[in-house]
Amino acid sequence: MINSRDNRSTTNFGAVGLAGKWSLATARRSLATADAADETAGVLCMYYVIAMDLSPYLNVWLTLFELNMARYLVVAGLFSLLFLGLLRHRLASRRNQSRRPPRSQYWLELRYALSTATIFASVGVLTYTLRQAGWLQFYSQIEEYGHAYWWLSLFLLILFHDTYFYWTHRLMHHPSIYRWVHRVHHRAVTPSPWTAYLFGPVEALTHAVIVLMVATFLPLHGTVILCFLIFMVIWNVNGHLGIELLPRGFARHPIGKWLVTSTYHNIHHRRFQGNFGLYFTFWDRLMGTHRSEYESEFERVTGPVLPRSDNAPIT
Ligand SMILES: [Zn+2]
Ligand SMILES: [Zn+2]
Repeated sequence: MINSRDNRSTTNFGAVGLAGKWSLATARRSLATADAADETAGVLCMYYVIAMDLSPYLNVWLTLFELNMARYLVVAGLFSLLFLGLLRHRLASRRNQSRRPPRSQYWLELRYALSTATIFASVGVLTYTLRQAGWLQFYSQIEEYGHAYWWLSLFLLILFHDTYFYWTHRLMHHPSIYRWVHRVHHRAVTPSPWTAYLFGPVEALTHAVIVLMVATFLPLHGTVILCFLIFMVIWNVNGHLGIELLPRGFARHPIGKWLVTSTYHNIHHRRFQGNFGLYFTFWDRLMGTHRSEYESEFERVTGPVLPRSDNAPIT
């Protein structure tokens, strides 16, 4: 039985607690004074205490989940609307593949996007926790290291990510683990902007830890991380667009040849091997995994519009 004092506490739990004024200390006191016979109230109270203990983490998780979904939906949505919608006729000759993604692929991509955002948010909570514990090298005042360092750290973060991505991506293509880790991503033989989050759980986890890893040895400002995450999703969505937006000659340009383009990654999706890089092509060139047809295909899709029979995109 619950005595009158406990009844008051239960009332507080409903009215005041939900209004956000019921403190964790009050919850713990109520748990301590609950009648042993009323196990239900005790258990509920205990769950509430746990929930209150975890609530900062739940709030961080929810915020990160929303932000991860928002950046994906906004960027992929804008690319789809603009390049696959409004400008589709003008860009028709620049399509990498004549085959369109099957309708079922979009549902698959959306389903996996939810799972990927869940994993990204969970690793974000871990990063937040380690940061609170002082284990990661985040800093809050740009003046601490200066503006030049801000740019340098962003560049190093991208450079490190590219190297990490190349090697983990190559590893994921090893026959012994491909099926379990990376096959989901390659279900999109014809990628679309929505393929950007098409990862199985293990692959999503592999990608999610990048900021956490770099922050263990490189001081990072919050705005660097924000810019990096936005840049990453734009690059990723463009890589899966299936339309080449860059000008003719870019793939052979002294600078352009070192950058991964939409055509570059599209070849990877179609051929399953080679062109493993994310931002830069130098690891592929250095390790002999650069696909030799890249330059000619880039020239073909960005070339002058010929009669359709002569300019049919490769499927
Ligand atoms: Zn792959
Ligand atoms: Zn891809």
